[in-house]
Order: sequence, then structure tokens, then C-alpha cells
Amino acid sequence: MKEKFALGVDIGGTTTEFGICDRNGNVLFEETVKTTDYPTANDLVEYIHRKLSDTPYIDQIIGIGIGAPNGNYFSGTIEFAPNLKWKGVIHLADMFSAKFSTPATLTNDANAAAIGEMIYGNAKDLKDFVTITLGTGLGSGVIVNGDMIYGHDGFAGEYGHIRMIPNGIACGCGRKGCLETYCSATGVVRSINELNSENKRSSPLVELASPHAEDVFEWAVKGDSFAEEIIDFTAKTLGSALADYACFSSPKAYVLFGGIAQSGQAFADRVKGYLEENILNIYKDKIEIRISTLHDKNAAVLGASSLVWNSNGK
Ligand SMILES: [Zn+2]
Repeated sequence: MKEKFALGVDIGGTTTEFGICDRNGNVLFEETVKTTDYPTANDLVEYIHRKLSDTPYIDQIIGIGIGAPNGNYFSGTIEFAPNLKWKGVIHLADMFSAKFSTPATLTNDANAAAIGEMIYGNAKDLKDFVTITLGTGLGSGVIVNGDMIYGHDGFAGEYGHIRMIPNGIACGCGRKGCLETYCSATGVVRSINELNSENKRSSPLVELASPHAEDVFEWAVKGDSFAEEIIDFTAKTLGSALADYACFSSPKAYVLFGGIAQSGQAFADRVKGYLEENILNIYKDKIEIRISTLHDKNAAVLGASSLVWNSNGK
């Protein structure tokens, strides 16, 4: 009997990764393309099909999993994604399904990461946890009793847009003070200017023309006090938010995913400290902060492909 494979596709604003994965999380083929090279979503579907037609895997694909910004699990559509050139409502799961003659499942990228974590990563032993993706923005995938929470319309789990600070920094969503404006790679960089404009600091960070979040973490390790202050502010804001969000689903763990999470255990420990400081008594000392173990694998493609193996897509 022929081996069965899943096609995982992770659509991003800048790049799209796709790959062929087996049930054990081995990635047998992978390619990254520029999303912006494809004027329509259909052009991308055609390209991926053409590319895979040259491989031995094409006849053994039993399903397709897609992670995408503003992805809706119920309708299999991408809806009004601000970072994509493809405008309006895109029926991407249907396009893939028709082209490959196999079922296709689509959800947002943070949900795909949560399911990937449950099947291949650091949440294999958990049925109740929340994945927090710390990238350009902050995404969340909420798992309760082993099932993904989608909500009535497929858009549940937007923790990044819970407002933390009244009249705070303007968010891309059009409102102010959302968690992701502080706790994301972009947010960490923004904090350099915000904190420095309140009170001028002498730090190598304020001299950098275009600093990245990694610079802040690097300078903190070197002992720069302003870098330390930014990381502490980020951890405090995130830890405090996660303390409140525990009231919703009582998770056993938060699994941090993305570049900031990979900066190390020290950041996770600090988030945990602030979480414990702010949490309701009944949850005290019960919630772990874990770091994703998908990072050193092909996280995006694996997360997307895991939708195929996840029995009910939930
Ligand atoms: Zn927002």
C-alpha cells in the first residue's frame, strides 16, 4: 500500500511555504515562494500543483492543510486580509480541493500552529492550552478538551486584539491599545521609541537606524539597562494579559511561538512571574509557560499539514 502524505501550505503576506509531510512530521519536500509574485490566489494554486506534479508525491496526497491570515475554518476562505494583495473573500480551500481532487482544510495561521503543537510539538500531552504566536502581530489558538475553539463564525481566539491599555497605541485593526501593539516583534521595536520619547535614554538601541526585536534581546543579554527595561515591560504586559485570559478557558499551559519566544527561557520565566503576580487565586501555580518546539522544524508547513491528520479538523 502506498504511503499517505499531507500537503501543508502556509500563506503569509510576504512569503508562502508549502511542503509534503508524512504522519510523523517528516517534511519530504518544501519550497518557499514570494506570495506577491502571484497576482491571484488561483495563480498560486496552479503553480503549487504544477511544481508537485514533477514529484513522486502527487498521487499520494490525501489532504491539504492551509494556514492563512484571516483564514476562516468554516468557509475555507481568506476574508479581507490586510496584508495580502488578494482582496475580498478568497475561496482558497475550494480552489486547492478542486485542483488536487482531495479535501482541503483552511484556518488561520495561529490555529494551525496550535494544532501542529498538539500533534508534533510541545503540547502533545495537553488537551487544554493556548498557543500564543509572537510575530509581526500576536495570534492565538485556543484548544479546549482537545478541540480547537472556532466560535460561531470561525474567528475565535483573537487575543492580540483584546485591548490592554485604554487609549493606548493605535493598532492596525483601527482601535487603540490592543495587546499586539505591545507584545509582538513589531511592538517590541515600537517600545524603543515610545519609552525613549517619555524619558530620553542613553542606549545603543536608540542609535540604531532600523532596530529589530532581536537587537533588544541581544543588548539585554549584554547588560544594557534600556533593553532590559523593554523586555520587562513586554513580559509584564503579556504576563498580565495571560493571567486575565486564564479566566476564559483555564488552560494547563500557554505555548509561546515565534521569534520572541525563541529568545529563550529567561523571557518565558519573566512572563510566568508576571502571570503569577496577577492571576486569580484559583489558577495560581497551575499554568505553565512553555516554548514551542516546532520552531527548529518546518513549523509553518507542519502546522498547516497537521490539519489533515487532526481527525475532525478541530
Ligand atoms: Zn487591534
